[in-house]
Amino acid sequence: MNCKLCGKEAEGGEISGREAYGMKCRTCGQYVITPEAYHSELKVAGYLLSAATRLAWDNGRRIEIQTEGQEQIASMVRRPSNLFEAIDNVIRTLYDGLERMDQRFVLDEEILYPIWVACDPNELGYWLNKAAELGYLELEGGSGYVEQFLPTLSGWARAVHLRETTPLGNQAFVAMWFDDSMDDVWANGIKPALERAGYSPMMLKAAQHNDNINDKIMAEIRRSSLVVADFTGQRGGCYFEAGFALGLGIPVVWCCKIEEKEKLHFDTKAYSHIFYSNPANLKELLYDRVQATVPLKKQPPQSTT
Ligand SMILES: [Zn+2]
Repeated sequence: MNCKLCGKEAEGGEISGREAYGMKCRTCGQYVITPEAYHSELKVAGYLLSAATRLAWDNGRRIEIQTEGQEQIASMVRRPSNLFEAIDNVIRTLYDGLERMDQRFVLDEEILYPIWVACDPNELGYWLNKAAELGYLELEGGSGYVEQFLPTLSGWARAVHLRETTPLGNQAFVAMWFDDSMDDVWANGIKPALERAGYSPMMLKAAQHNDNINDKIMAEIRRSSLVVADFTGQRGGCYFEAGFALGLGIPVVWCCKIEEKEKLHFDTKAYSHIFYSNPANLKELLYDRVQATVPLKKQPPQSTT
């Protein structure tokens, strides 16, 4: 069976017990598609669906493609709006993934292009070669769609700059009291609610005794597109972090255990808080609040024509 999304040869077969094909493509990852969708024309550009299925699969999820709802799946991915944004996305992923600082990048453009929402391997090849022109990579050789590059000083500088200044897209920073009594609130309330809403939650309890924790906290808030602040325990740090995020224009969701409602600081009491009685309760309320007020930044799909 050929992959419906990229057209290349792929493994595929009927899933037992239901009318759907399970597909396994080197480029698009694993996904499920209904026979009806498989045998009719796609409603959106295939590369957008390739990117959505690939990114989901790399995160351990299989997307199901039906005849309806393809636009919504495509809208989960963000197509770079210009060449510099495309190059920055690639540079950031490549350098962030390095184990050794002098490690060679061996890039098979045919398999990798959906990761950065390129239209095809040729477009990714163009981005990589323009990145090399800017000095962010050093072309070392290659053949066909497999090219080799070395990291460069400019590339490192760009990657470090990007890491420090741009939001990760789906990171949500969680400001809360680092007390063992809050472990349950984190594990069974905040974390699952944010993950369900599509965010990757970041909490720094493990690093709390590090001297540079304040620098680290501010760097992580800068990289986040949402901050969840829980004021249970009335920690000054949480107020500081929420204020810092507000100043940067990052949306803040305010939470507090119901029994501490009256202890909240006068200056911030006016913000609409989620008051919860237990972690399960918080999980539901927080998910609803995040869905309702701060949808993930998404861009409408763009046509290839
Ligand atoms: Zn494919």
